Amino acid sequence: MSERRVAALIGSPVGHSLSPTIHQAAFDAAGVDWTYVAFDVAPGRAVDAIAAMRVLGLAGLSVTMPHKHDVAAAVDRLEPAADVLRSVNTVSWDGDELMGSSTDGAGFVASLADGGVDVSGTAIAVIGAGGAARSVIDAIGRAGAASIRVVNRTVERADSACALAAVAEVGTSDDIGDADIVVNATSVGMGVDPASASVDDLPCDPSLLHATQVVVDLVYHPLRTAWLRHAEEAGGHTIDGLGMLIHQAALQQQAWLGRLPDVGVMRRAAEVALAAQER
Ligand code: NAP
Repeated sequence: MSERRVAALIGSPVGHSLSPTIHQAAFDAAGVDWTYVAFDVAPGRAVDAIAAMRVLGLAGLSVTMPHKHDVAAAVDRLEPAADVLRSVNTVSWDGDELMGSSTDGAGFVASLADGGVDVSGTAIAVIGAGGAARSVIDAIGRAGAASIRVVNRTVERADSACALAAVAEVGTSDDIGDADIVVNATSVGMGVDPASASVDDLPCDPSLLHATQVVVDLVYHPLRTAWLRHAEEAGGHTIDGLGMLIHQAALQQQAWLGRLPDVGVMRRAAEVALAAQER
């Protein structure tokens, strides 16, 4: 009989996280004897959680806010993206050492590929300069974007994020209209019913969007945000935030199990859970 392995999420809060649902669905579909649980770990206790991972022999860890930075300092080694970002969302075993990686950016690029979009050689406007935007900027720079324009409410944060990619510069709203791909990496629109959304619930003036663009929203609650609806009305190709969530989780499973899971199973499980949350 195989020994059951345990993977876990640490964060605070974790109550509404979709991670347990999507990871368990993939484990079950693959027929592996893994179980996934969520631990609410208080801010400042990430180092203790990593020590617990070693003592308890947890097989893998997902890390979410507010612990991504602290975990980067607590593991034995960092993969390149995690090292540059000083942010870890995945911990896996490499022999008896703990490896920290950051799968968010690679998950973003994979979600676009899943939607038939290759970022190499494209002009990309990223709206936002927080943790999610930084992961995206690092990954699209590595994936060969021709230019990246970072548009953010706080210009100093945009400037800092531009250091992550040689082709990145601080941008303006004009750059949004000129881009091949426009990404909302702000939290604007999160939790807002599109039917009652106002202009304040949109990350940019929707009249800047047009039919030849790919428009991506990292916000996935609600799944079809007001901004994506505007992009659809403009005729653009839209990609929702669940894509990145699923693909970063799939890459976590690859780090733990050595192979990619069925992303279709993960997506369907997430859609059911999201629909229940939105009711
Ligand atoms: P964060 O580090 O707190 O950054 C928030 C960003 O949103 C900053 O750029 C901030 O601008 C901007 N912002 C917030 N309120 C704004 C407003 N009213 N007007 C204009 N800009 C505003 O958060 P994060 O971790 O990057 O997450 C950003 C979003 O991405 C969240 O909705 C999160 O749920 C989503 N996300 C999705 C995935 C996924 O897998 N799909 C993964 C990670 C995150 P300032 O710098 O000016 O404050």
